[in-house]
Amino acid sequence: MPELPEIQTIVDDLNKIILNKKIKKVDIRLPKIIRGANKTFCSVLKNNSFQKISRRGKFIIIQLSQKNKYLIVHLRMTGQIIYINKDKIIAGGHSEEKNQFDLPNKQTHLIIYFQDQSKLFYNDQRQFGFWQVVSLNGVKEVQSKLGLNPLGVEFNLLSFKKLLENKKGNIKAFLLNQKYVAGLGNIYTDESLFRAYILPSRKIETLTLKEIKKLYKAIKDILVLSIKYRGTTFNNYVDARGRKGKFIKFLKIYKKEGQKCSRCKKEIIKKIKIAGRGTRYCSYCQE
Ligand SMILES: [Zn+2]
Repeated sequence: MPELPEIQTIVDDLNKIILNKKIKKVDIRLPKIIRGANKTFCSVLKNNSFQKISRRGKFIIIQLSQKNKYLIVHLRMTGQIIYINKDKIIAGGHSEEKNQFDLPNKQTHLIIYFQDQSKLFYNDQRQFGFWQVVSLNGVKEVQSKLGLNPLGVEFNLLSFKKLLENKKGNIKAFLLNQKYVAGLGNIYTDESLFRAYILPSRKIETLTLKEIKKLYKAIKDILVLSIKYRGTTFNNYVDARGRKGKFIKFLKIYKKEGQKCSRCKKEIIKKIKIAGRGTRYCSYCQE
């Protein structure tokens, strides 16, 4: 599932290459992928262009050239965006499926054709993702439901500490909850907690200030490093320039169950379920 670093990577890539290209045609191949009327979606996009692409949490927000029109995109579990312009390919999002750039294929649910012959494909194996046309108010509504941006100035030790005050339950569920901190998913919560020496099952009220500090720093460091390496991809999912998400090399705990912990070199990494998600931890390093 794409998380903040993977979303940020595709947003950065698209901003460099797709802006101001006039949209010629839209082909919706699976109507339910579009929220709202399909007809309206097509008519708004036609002759429009992408003016600016940004990210909030795991949402992609595309400002269109037409005033007060935006696209909200969420990739959910398996959404992929692939932009092809002649021999140039920009791809991002879900990566665990073998990717073919022989498109469209049976997982292609939306195609946006640009006037310059380039195309944007939306693939989604499990079909949980969506695209929606909204006004600025619609964008604000999405934003209002999301918590702190862990890469923004609003995410600092003080705000993080305040957010944790009077919260019940375990720290992993808290970090996954998008209304507190927006953008973290299973990979980056497990990696952050490991880096901060904190068990995912720890009750929030038992965290010391020192631990909160460590966790705050771990979240920031992990996200910055992951964006630097274009996120985490689990196969040879590459774009035409041969790039793939290289953060996989830096993973210390995610999908490492059954292996010896690389930090303490004593304990075998275990996997349990917390907050409904497969959760990895080292019982020696984390407490
Ligand atoms: Zn360990």
